[in-house]
Formats: sequence, C-alpha cells, structure tokens
Amino acid sequence: MRRAWLIGTLVFLAGVAIVGCQVERFLNRVVAGPGVPPSERTRALQASAMVVDLHADPLLWGRDLTKRATVGHVDLPRLRAGGVGLQVFGLVTQVPLGANIDRTDPRWPDMVTLLAVTHGWPLRTWTSRLERALHQAARFDRIVDAAGGTLLPIRTREDLTRLVAERRRDPSVVGGLLAIEGAHALEGDPTNVGRLFDAGVRMIGLAHFFDNAFAGSAHGLAKGGLTEKGRTLIAEMARRRMVVDLAHASPATIADVLAAVDRPVVVSHTGVRGTCDNARNLSDDQVRAIAAGDGVIGVGMWETAVCGTAPADVARAVAHIIGLVGADHAALGADFDGAVTTGFDATGLPRVTEALLATGLPESTVRQVLGENVLRVLVATLPRE
Ligand SMILES: [Zn+2]
Repeated sequence: MRRAWLIGTLVFLAGVAIVGCQVERFLNRVVAGPGVPPSERTRALQASAMVVDLHADPLLWGRDLTKRATVGHVDLPRLRAGGVGLQVFGLVTQVPLGANIDRTDPRWPDMVTLLAVTHGWPLRTWTSRLERALHQAARFDRIVDAAGGTLLPIRTREDLTRLVAERRRDPSVVGGLLAIEGAHALEGDPTNVGRLFDAGVRMIGLAHFFDNAFAGSAHGLAKGGLTEKGRTLIAEMARRRMVVDLAHASPATIADVLAAVDRPVVVSHTGVRGTCDNARNLSDDQVRAIAAGDGVIGVGMWETAVCGTAPADVARAVAHIIGLVGADHAALGADFDGAVTTGFDATGLPRVTEALLATGLPESTVRQVLGENVLRVLVATLPRE
C-alpha cells in the first residue's frame, strides 16, 4: 500500500516536471518563419533608435533570460538581436483557466497556481498573489546580477538617462522596468503598493482578466469602474510617481482613471477596434481620450490585438492611431511570452519597423513609435533618485 502510494507520488511528480518544462512550448508559440530579412535602411534605423517594448512576460516561465532559448519569445540575447533598448517586464499572478476576453470568472481554477507548484516556486507563492509578484521581481534582480551590467533596472528618471548613455557606449545594454499585470496582486490592500515599489515595480496594470477589488476588467463579469480602493491606489501611485497601465481595463475603469489622473497613462499592450473590433481593444473615442492626457498606446503583436500575426497587421493598427491622434501616442507592446501565439519573437521586431516604414510614415515618426513616445511618458512620470 505504502509502495503504491510512493510510486503514485513519483509518477505524479514526473508528470508535473514534464508538464512544467513543456507548457511554454504550447503557450508562447511562433507560427511563421523568419520572413524576409529587413533592409539596410531598416537595420540602420533599428540600431540608432531607442526601441521600447511596453509589455512581455518572460519572468513568469523561469527560463534563464541571460541565455538564448529555443522556446518562448524573449530573453536578453533575442532582445539584443531585435534591437530593443528597454523592455517592460510584466509580473503575472493569476490567470483563470478558461480566461477569455468577453467574460472571465476569478473563481475558475488558476493557472499561475499550477505553474507555481510545477515550477517549484517557494511555498508562500502557492497561495499569495503578492508573493508571486515579489518572487518574479526577485527573479528579475537575479537576472540583473547574472547579466553583468548588460541589463539595467529602470526605477528612476536618472536610470533612463544612464540607460541612454550606456547604450551609446555599448548597444548591447538593455533596460528593464517592472510592471504588475492586475492590481489583484495587492490582495485588496492599497498599502501593499509600497512593498511592490520597494521591489522595483514602477507600473501597475489595474486589472487583468477579471474584476478585482480596485478596478473592473474589460473581460470581467461586472466590468465596473474604479472602486473606492482603486481611487486610493491611484492616489498612492501618483504620490510615488508610478505609471498607470490601462491594458485590459473596462471602459468604465478607463473613463474613471482618465478623470482622476493629471499625468499621462499607458495602455501597455492592446489593439484598436478601428482595425480589429473586439472587447479586448480600444475604441476610437478611447484612443482620443488617452491621447488628450498625453498618454501612449502600445500595439500588441498577436491575433486578438491586431487580427493577424504579421508585421503589417501591427503597422496597420499603429497607422490607425496616428490617423486619429497624430504621431505622439502610438507605441509597441508586443505581449511576448504572454501565453500568446505570434508571427515572430523579439528578434523579428525590425520587421515591424520595416512594415511601419512601408506604410509611408517618415523616419522621425517611426522613431517616436519605436520608443520616443514611451520615453516621454516615463520621463514625465518616474520618480527622481
Ligand atoms: Zn495582458
């Protein structure tokens, strides 16, 4: 009896280990080949621009990001190959099994719990969303240490200045900024924002796939706006000069936040209904409202965001935003490693630049989209040293 139990446990643990290693192979896929190599002009532009990607989730999966992997979309070697100068790293803490863009219930079984158990995260992360965020932030710190000066944590305006100077000296240096995906990671207590800030987090996406104690999600059950706790959180973030991210937020949350803030916001990874009409994406009026507050909109690179996985699909959404509100508000937010299927990994970003140039945008505008617009918002928002 005891032996049967032991064998059963060993088989279960072996299964868990296999699932743990393989799960990313299925969730973060690339469907197309390498595509046409970018032109000389594109490569020169990519090399001289400050390219910023507003959202990727590689910290969730536990890979050593200093090494180039054969799964997923992002690691430091691939960011360098794609010409990325600054990557915003999402910290994901709860994703209900069956999450969908129309209606997601937080009571459904949670996939991040499964990941925490199968990948051997510390016990305290098995039940605590806050501990999961802190665990991924600590993982980022370890990667910074292992990267030997080639990954710079971005926590202040001075860090941004240093990053730009460092990259002039050595273009392989990449900046990394930590962001929370869903304020449920605060476990209902706005004062927990202090623990996240101390761990280096400088951006908070108010809602992820479901409504939480602070804000309604575009994919939630009630899809409400900011709650009283949410207003307290927004005020605390303003005091600490953290960036508000409205990706996944419900229309009511977007309206409530824009009425409550006096600094620009970001929508880190999204699409626009003008080129891809679904509940995940921003209406023209929402694009105008975000631009009116001088915010930026990071265009995603997966099917639900841009109704395709080709660089031209990304460029079409960017061009739509520029057509509505001018060149100052469009940006890139791939959602690489966010359990999405894309047409290319981070090494393919120059193809997006090529597609942007192919729409007829001038190089100065393409530079804005690639990163200058995001830098403007970060400089206006991040704290000083
Ligand atoms: Zn997301």
